[in-house]
Amino acid sequence: MLRLTDIKLPLDHAQDAIAAAIRAKLGIGAKAPIRYSVAKRSYDARKRGAIVLIYALDVDVADEEAVLRRHAGDAHVQPAPDTGYRFVAQAPRDLPLRPVVIGTGPCGLFAGLVLAQMGFRPIILDRGKSVRERTKDTWDLWRKRNLHPESNVQFGEGGAGTFSDGKLYSQIRDPQHHGRKVLTEFVEAGAPEEILYVSKPHIGTFRLVTMVENMRATIESLGGEIRFGQRVDDLLLEPAGDGRRQVRGVVLAGGEQIRTDHVVLAIGHSARDTFAMLHARGVYVEAKPFSIGFRIEHPQSLIDRARFGPQAGHPILGAADYKLVHHCKGAHPGQGRSVYSFCMCPGGTVVAATSEPGRMVTNGMSQYSRNERNANAAIVVGIDPVDFAPFDGSGSPLAGIALQRALESHAYTLGGGNYNAPGQLVGDFLAARASHAFGEVQPSFKPGVTLGSLDSALPDYAIAAIREALPAFDRQIKGFAMHDAVLTGVETRTSSPVRIKRDDSLQSLNTGGLYPAGEGAGYAGGILSAAVDGIRVAEAVALDMTGHGGGH
Ligand SMILES: Cc1cc2nc3c(=O)[nH]c(=O)nc-3n(C[C@H](O)[C@H](O)[C@H](O)COP(=O)(O)OP(=O)(O)OC[C@H]3O[C@@H](n4cnc5c(N)ncnc54)[C@H](O)[C@@H]3O)c2cc1C
Repeated sequence: MLRLTDIKLPLDHAQDAIAAAIRAKLGIGAKAPIRYSVAKRSYDARKRGAIVLIYALDVDVADEEAVLRRHAGDAHVQPAPDTGYRFVAQAPRDLPLRPVVIGTGPCGLFAGLVLAQMGFRPIILDRGKSVRERTKDTWDLWRKRNLHPESNVQFGEGGAGTFSDGKLYSQIRDPQHHGRKVLTEFVEAGAPEEILYVSKPHIGTFRLVTMVENMRATIESLGGEIRFGQRVDDLLLEPAGDGRRQVRGVVLAGGEQIRTDHVVLAIGHSARDTFAMLHARGVYVEAKPFSIGFRIEHPQSLIDRARFGPQAGHPILGAADYKLVHHCKGAHPGQGRSVYSFCMCPGGTVVAATSEPGRMVTNGMSQYSRNERNANAAIVVGIDPVDFAPFDGSGSPLAGIALQRALESHAYTLGGGNYNAPGQLVGDFLAARASHAFGEVQPSFKPGVTLGSLDSALPDYAIAAIREALPAFDRQIKGFAMHDAVLTGVETRTSSPVRIKRDDSLQSLNTGGLYPAGEGAGYAGGILSAAVDGIRVAEAVALDMTGHGGGH
């Protein structure tokens, strides 16, 4: 099989144009038999009115060797990569102890699935509820201002990514094609086939709900066990010499103990009580940089026009997205800071993503159709542990959580103390004056937005940096700093405020048998990279349980 890349065709090309392009590229006649499949389809929208599709194609031709010799040195004609997934181990018939996975987000779910596929019958625990119950509870906040602290956008089956745009792409290096395994399993669970070849695949929330249920059924059919409403509140640890410990089990909120020597810790970035427990138990945790900011909303049509010009609305292109970054130079507290767009949701909504009473957090989501009237994204500023000191001067590795909590509590108050988000129009924000009425853009945030000034919602360096960046973004996307665009806040959970350090065997630096994984541990950012990290950690557990591990 050959892999042909960089095959360019106009947006509205005829179906048989692909075969014609292959024949032209390989210099083979119209009668020679060929078979092909689309490995990747992306687009180049830089030339207005002349958007092109760019294909990577897997092609079967007669006498492949001869074709490869003829195209020796051509980077765009290569043998197709072997992206098949191979299990690293099989569980022994008699399994003295089963591995435990904490969390059913993408990381925990894939760690559990791959361990189950290798026969290790994992016990998977989540503090939240099953996905349909959880959906009801989440809507209970969005519609009736009733927060369920253990069942919400952050906690429950499917993890943080369930109420999302379900964007499935990341920048991670993936030499073993684990990403392909993730996408293949998602298709197996009900995702649209196109996620296997479109350059920016997304699934959308409603589809994610069914897929997560299907994956649970698969894990259970392979002997795995998934238990909801099971918060792990402690670890059973045994000294293991030279200051090290070995995990011997987990303790649940109700006091039940589960014996195990292998724990996958896939708890996500909002498990603040669990981070505190780990730190108190002496598990090595360190503070980690993350970003803070606001969500911004524009009419999706404005973004489509700016990105796609006259071809906006073309079914293959769908709702346009954007990626923006600005490095601040101005003489203000934000000088030297970077401001960037994060988790952009085309044709989506801004959602209440809090998990703690009296705190306000924003995030974004879309349905597969991405046909809501607004586009939204977070506009965030990078911060480091030095920035945490004003909120917790103890130098604790958990200081970032203190910063998040302080900003979220203040935002809750600014919003009126009823789970409304505080908001401001971009024009007023740039002019440093409070807003009183919405204009052309109606916000999508539920339960509601309370207009005013966001000047006190973030530290002054972040406010100054965003104030400098918005006009700069307007030069990249005309209308980005339109007066009536709406800012809501605060976006504080962009990634984990801590890293639970691990060594090459993917075990905690000082606690054997504990495998910190995914976003919460600081080893992933996004659905795809969290799922890939889950597979990597499952492989490490399987190798260790069959005596081929890197040991400690
Ligand atoms: C609203 C929203 C939209 C997003 N949109 C996207 C997107 O479009 N694309 C994308 O790539 N990423 C998106 N993300 C980010 C993505 O969801 C996360 O990066 C990803 O879910 C991280 O996966 P994870 O498995 O590491 O952790 P999580 O998904 O956070 O899962 C952690 C799980 O652990 C459980 N847990 C925590 N503590 C305990 C405990 N003590 N005991 C038992 N269980 C526990 C929680 O209940 C939770 O279910 C979005 C996030 C949010 C919140």
